[in-house]
Parts: sequence; structure tokens; C-alpha cells
Amino acid sequence: MRTVTEHQSFITTLITRPEPVVLPLEQAAGRVLAEDLVAERPLPAFDNSAMDGYAVRASDIAGASAASPVTLPVGADIPAGRVDGPALQPGTAHRIMTGAAMPEGADAVVQVEATDGGTHNVTIHEARDAGKHVRTAGEDVRAGDTVLPAGAVLGPSQLGLIAALGEPAVTVIPPLRVLVLSTGSELVEAGKPLLHGQIHESNGIMLATAVRAAGAVAEQLRFVADNVDEFHEALNSRIDHVDLVITSGGVSAGAYEVVKDALAGQGVEFVKVAMQPGMPQGAGLVHGVPVVTLPGNPVSALVSFEVFLRPALRAAMGLPDTQRTLVRATLTEALDSPARRRQFRRGVLDREAGTVRPIGPPASHFLRWMAAADCLLDIAEDVTHLDAGARVDTWLVS
Ligand code: AMP
Ligand code: MG
Repeated sequence: MRTVTEHQSFITTLITRPEPVVLPLEQAAGRVLAEDLVAERPLPAFDNSAMDGYAVRASDIAGASAASPVTLPVGADIPAGRVDGPALQPGTAHRIMTGAAMPEGADAVVQVEATDGGTHNVTIHEARDAGKHVRTAGEDVRAGDTVLPAGAVLGPSQLGLIAALGEPAVTVIPPLRVLVLSTGSELVEAGKPLLHGQIHESNGIMLATAVRAAGAVAEQLRFVADNVDEFHEALNSRIDHVDLVITSGGVSAGAYEVVKDALAGQGVEFVKVAMQPGMPQGAGLVHGVPVVTLPGNPVSALVSFEVFLRPALRAAMGLPDTQRTLVRATLTEALDSPARRRQFRRGVLDREAGTVRPIGPPASHFLRWMAAADCLLDIAEDVTHLDAGARVDTWLVS
């Protein structure tokens, strides 16, 4: 039997980094920069006013005060965006707005609050040093500066910076395209009536949502019957268009294990992993595309995704937080755990109290308790019993 850690590294090796692509900024949110971003132009691009007020020569208003204000004729109006602002003649002021280019000859701005706000003449009540309230070209970014390193995650501020530098697109590690393929002849679409023995399909949306939450792109192919020919046909129709296939169902020890029957000896290794839930697992390459086969029981499928796929997907896409936040907490009640299995139990954390309450039975079809949990208790292989009050590792999954 394989350990959880061994199967984790097997899957992490299988899923490799996609080639960088150039994406428009609109599509780059949450992605990771594939290379250092070097500014081609400075920020600000030109000297401009930091205030609404008047552009002046500091020497013309030296000594201005409330007791002895200085009055200057106003030569021109320079709103933001004006591209033909005239030069400032000595002994005059231009009315200027925040972000407008400083006129040639001006070296300071007096904010409107320190003046009478006049439009023909302006009376200024305070002196200003040269450079005051002027944003100088390049003071934020100089051309040639590395403003973001390769590996930076592009959130609002990073994308804002890239846009400010005039770049419409950026080179990023693209999201992996993942096909979630659900097998099972018993599966019926939600909203449709069931015959006795049929169930509503639920792994598809569950795994696709988990894939998206991990930062990748998911498409679904559902209701693939437990028939080897049908499975091959379904897989072959889509595998060349994706970077990874995740199947659910058909990998246990029974008969009619369609995924196992179809892919054993075809590049996919089927193994038992020393864990609960999720013991039957498989992974390998089909047509050069990684295929990871998860068990069909919903809790097994989602726990397996958490343990094996989420870390591998995020690592391949260069995304941070490949591991969930670990919180060590005190058990509120005793629990038993199978020998020689790393057990993942559902739980609810009280972070203030530092406690964790296990919820629901350990079996892998109790989906309701998975939905109520905010953490997984990670119980080591050799542990068979924990008393209330014991300390246990939990993974924050919500
Ligand atoms: P299997 O691994 O195919 O033997 O399935 C194990 C259990 O999970 C069975 O009870 C299946 O009906 C159930 N199951 C398998 N696939 C799905 C699915 N996509 N949605 C909901 N339940 C499923
Ligand atoms: Mg099945």
C-alpha cells in the first residue's frame, strides 16, 4: 500500500506547468506572472500637480502669508488631460488641477484652500518651497525597474499597476484546463425523476467547483455509463483538449469498475493508498495527458481532491498556498481511527476556543457532514484512538 505522501508526490510530478501565455488584463486576474515585469516607461510619465490649485514659481510667492498675501494674475487653466498647457510667465499663476501636467517654468503648486480661488487674479496666503505638491516624473517607477517579479499573483493592485504602465496584456501561467468525468450507470441529472436504484449525479459539480476554487478551469462530462467502450469513446472525445482529466467512480474492487477496466495497463496505475476515506486511487498518462482517477463515493472523491489534486494543481500553476492552512486544535470528544490508515475526518473548528468538533460518521457517503464541515481532521496512520482533549491537526478547507 502507498502512503498518502507517496501518492501526493506521484500526482504532483504528473501534473506539470502549462506554457506561459499572453492574456489581456481582463483575463489575467488571479493568474501568476510568468516572467519579471519590467517597466518600459516611468510613472508618473511627466511632472504633474498633486493638488487642485495654482502652479507658480516658488520664488514669486516667497514670504506670502495671511498677513501679507501675494496676488498674481491667472494666465491659463490647466485641467487634467490638457496637452497644450502654455508655459508660465514670471509673476503669474496658472490654475491647475490634480494630475495635470506642470507648465514649463512652474516649480510648485499652491492648493486652492490656501488661496481665494480667483480666476482672473489669485490671492495666495501661504508660501511654498520649490517642488511642493508636484509629482515628479519617475518618482514611483523608473523605466527599466522590475515592478513585479515572476511568480507574483495578479490581484487588483498588480493589474492596476500594469495598466498604468500602459500594458494591455501580460505574460502569465494559464489556468490548467481540467475535464471532470463522472462515471456510473446509476447516475441521473438533478431535476430529473429517479427510478428505484438510480441516484442524482453530484460529483461533477462538486469536483468542477473544487477545480475552479483551486484556480483552474473545469469542464464536465457526466453520465458516462459503466461500459468500457463508452468510457473510451467519452474520454477520447475530450482528452486532447484538456491538460488534466479527473474521473470519479469505477476504481474499487468490485465488478463493473469501468475506469479501472478501461485504463489498467494503458498508462494508469491503480493503487491502494493507506487512507480513509479514499483508499482506491489511480493516476497516470493517457495520450500524454495526466489522468487522475478518484473513487466515486462523494466524500472520498472530495477528500482525495483536497489531499492530492488541489496541492498539485496550485503548484503547477505557480499559485501560492498549495497547502491548506493548518490549525492545531483540541478535540471536543473522543474518536477512533483505523490502524495503518491516515484518516481525514470532517470537523468544525472554534478558532477562538482552539477546539475542533468532529462531525458525522467516518464513512464516505455522508455528504451532508462534508457540507457542514469547515476543516478536515488529519489523523496519523498509527493513531487508533484519541481522547477528548487530545491535540489534532486540522486543515482549513472553507
Ligand atoms: P464507485 O466508486 O463507482 O463504485 O461508486 C461508489 C459510490 O459512489 C456508489 O454509491 C456510487 O453510486 C456513488 N457515486 C459514484 N459516482 C457518483 C457521482 N458522480 N455522483 C454521486 N454519486 C456517485
Ligand atoms: Mg460506479
